[in-house]
Formats: sequence, C-alpha cells, structure tokens
Amino acid sequence: MNFKTDIDFRKQSLNRLLDSILLHEQEIIQALYDDFKKSEFEAVVTETGYVISDLKHTIKNIKKWTKPKRVFPSLLNFPSSDFIYSEPYGNVLVIAPWNYPFQLAMCPLIAAVAAGNSVVLKPSELTPKVSGVIAEIIRESFDPTHVEVFLGGSEVSKRLLERRWDYIFFTGSVAVGKIVAKAAAEHLTPVTLELGGKNPCIVDATANLPITAKRIVWGKFINAGQTCIAPDYILVQNKVKNKLVSLLTSEITAAYGEDPELSPDFPRIINAKNWSRLADMIDQTKVLTGGKSNPENLYLSPTLINEPDLQSAVMQEEIFGPILPIISYENEKELETIIAKYEKPLSLYIFSDDKSFARRIIRDFSFGGGCINDAVIHFANKNLPFGGVGHSGIGAYHGRSSFDLFSHQKAIVRKANWLDLPFRYAPYKDKLKAIRFFMRWM
Ligand code: NAD
Repeated sequence: MNFKTDIDFRKQSLNRLLDSILLHEQEIIQALYDDFKKSEFEAVVTETGYVISDLKHTIKNIKKWTKPKRVFPSLLNFPSSDFIYSEPYGNVLVIAPWNYPFQLAMCPLIAAVAAGNSVVLKPSELTPKVSGVIAEIIRESFDPTHVEVFLGGSEVSKRLLERRWDYIFFTGSVAVGKIVAKAAAEHLTPVTLELGGKNPCIVDATANLPITAKRIVWGKFINAGQTCIAPDYILVQNKVKNKLVSLLTSEITAAYGEDPELSPDFPRIINAKNWSRLADMIDQTKVLTGGKSNPENLYLSPTLINEPDLQSAVMQEEIFGPILPIISYENEKELETIIAKYEKPLSLYIFSDDKSFARRIIRDFSFGGGCINDAVIHFANKNLPFGGVGHSGIGAYHGRSSFDLFSHQKAIVRKANWLDLPFRYAPYKDKLKAIRFFMRWM
C-alpha cells in the first residue's frame, strides 16, 4: 500500500490508531497522573478526549479534504478549469513538549498521516510514562516505515534534526524553536513552530468581574499554569483592581480548597528545575495570595503577585506555572506601553463589556489568537487556526488547517483546447491596447 496516494489506507491506519487509543485510554490517564499528577478530568478534557475527537473528525473528513479543490479560474486563462491538489510533503518530523504530552504529540501526527506523510515522532523526555504509552500505541497502529517513535531527550532531537526532512513540526520553547529553524534552514525544510510567550489578560472597568475572575482562575490554573496559552499576567484598570483581586482569591479557594496542595485537581510542576525557576520568581513581599511551595512533591500553590517590577524575572520570562502577576493601569496609553515591551504573544485576552475597546485591542496588537470575555477556549474550536506570530510561532493548525498544513498545495490549471485566444502570442504588434483594456476589467 502507498500511504501517499491511497486514501483508504490512510483511513484504515487512523482507525487502527483510534482503536489503540481507546484500548489504552486508562493507561494514558494513569501515566498523566504519574508524570505530574494531572487529574482525570483534565486528562480527558485536554488530552485523551480531545485527541479522540480530533481523530474522529479527521477520519470523517479525510475523503473530502483530499479531493482536489476546484477554484474560480482566471479570465486571463479562459477557457480553463483550475484546481488545488493536496500533496503530502513526504517525511515529517514531529517534536513534542511535555505540558500536554499526549495531545501535542498525537494531534500533529494524526494530521500528518491523514495528509499522506510518513512520520517520526519525538515525544518529551520529561513525561516518561506518557511517552512510553505513546510509543506502544504507535507500535500497535503503524508499520515503522510509516510512523515511528524515537524516545529520548534533546540529544535525540539534535540527531534527528541533522537528517533531511520534508517538513518539521515543533512545539516547545522559543529558544529550542530557533535551534529547529536553523536546522531546517540547512535543507530549506518548511517548519511549523508552535512556541510560547507572555500572554496579557486585560480586565477593564466595564467587565463582569465575578465571571471574569472565575474564567481567569480556570484558564490560568488548569494544568497548574503550565499551558502555553494561559494568561501570563493581568492588566487591570485601577478602579476595579481590589475587587478583582478579592474575587480571584475566592475563586481559587472555591476551585482548589483552602489548601490546594490537598486538591485532587491541582497538578504538580513538571520537574525540580522548573519548580526552582518558578519558586525563585516569587517575591514574598508582593504575594497577594498563595506563595506556598513544597519541593518534595514539586507543589507550588496558585499565587497572585501584586504589581511586580517589569524588570523582575516574573515579568521578563514566560511564567509557565501557577503564578499570576497583577498590574494596574489607568488608561489605554499605559496599557499599550506595557504590552509593547514584549514580543508578540501566543494569545491575548480581553475582559470587557466595551465592544469598541475590544475591537481597538484586536486591531492595535499583534498576537496569535485569543478571546473576549474568556481565556484559553479558542483552542477548542476546530474551525479556528491555532498558532503564534513573530516569536510565538510560525504556522497554524487544528481541524482542516492541520490537514492543509501537512500538504503542499499544488496549483493546476487544466486548459481547454476548444478555443485558443491569440492575445498572448508574439508578435505582439498592436495587441497591447486590447490587452490593457481587457486587464482593466479583471
Ligand atoms: P522545550 O523547547 O524545552 O522542549 C520541546 C521539545 O524539544 C522536547 O521534545 C525536547 O526534548 C526537545 N528539545 C529540547 N532541547 C532541545 C535542543 N537543544 N535541540 C533539539 N530539541 C530539543 O519545551 P518544553 O519545556 O517541553 O515546553 C514548554 C514550552 O513549550 C513553553 O515555552 C510553552 O509555551 C511551549 N508550548 C507551546 C505550545 C504551542 O502550541 N504553541 C504548546 C505547548 C507548549
């Protein structure tokens, strides 16, 4: 079978993958708990359930997506029929991170296979249990010449990056993204880079504060803040700051109890290195709530930080943990000054009932994507392309966009022979006037 051309073969492969994931679902959930204490609820919503839904959607649509797409022809070529063919790139390398270790490895892989590519997947070394189950699922579902998993750390990625690929899909940090882009440039290999950044979360005085607080607490502290699109810092209008802080504090307690260390729903920091990096970011003199930690089980409490210095580590790096700085602003000029200090973020959130304010923010700032009056949830819509811009990434995927991303769009004009207009052929002589007239109307 040729996975490049045989659509039924691709579909069968994806169906085998679906069966295997369904068979191993409890193991994946357990592995996510073992690796960093992700709750079953979050494991299903953001990992297994998400991947199963994506896989079913892909299997259902694969025939439609693979069909050559007819587009309106150009009058200059009259008479013709014009098409876009989706052609697999060939051999694809997918490098995945640890924070949603199942979803961010499987979703690109599913799309790459649907588009007819062969895939090498390098899952994260920081979630060894999940990566082990992934390797087993892939072995069960695919021939190794079609899809293969390489386990290991950066040394394995580095060796893989020395090879020539037809496409590289990388999810991870900006620093490693640059390494991947350099390696890809060597062979002019196209890349998608799904990176991170500091995502602003703006709350103005018109926002519905109780619902704003509830949604921010959910979006920030899901996965213990280890989410690329989590709100990184809050910019709140002066006059509603105190009210927002008090609502955020009570929402944290409502979600995770008086002692979140005991909550079955609050994950741990992925490793000691990240735990220390985060613990060092907390200036105890500025803690509004939280600020507790336990190195033995890599626990860090949901923490609100009051007005940090913009030069401090918490406002210089992507936080990627359960720490939420709160900075107040008076007017839009101040807001602009702060946001403009940072590279283009992966997401931005606006909590406001003022529609024209929200429109101005969307118009004036460049960012990957976001929400008005919510956080994180734009990720869930298969009809919205997901990706960054500038330092937060290159390219976008999800739903049909994922299939298109792993396909070269080959443009074909099928010219008819029943008419052959003479304009374009030399000698041109006095044809220029006629062609100018014609082009003016196109
Ligand atoms: P990372 O960049 O450290 O690692 C990602 C992958 O790259 C891993 O598989 C790792 O083994 C590999 N790697 C590490 N060093 C390497 C090197 N020198 N050369 C080649 N490969 C190397 O990222 P991470 O810590 O796993 O994930 C956290 C980062 O990922 C955050 O910045 C976060 O914002 C970002 N992220 C982005 C998205 C997105 O969709 N945009 C999703 C999740 C995470």
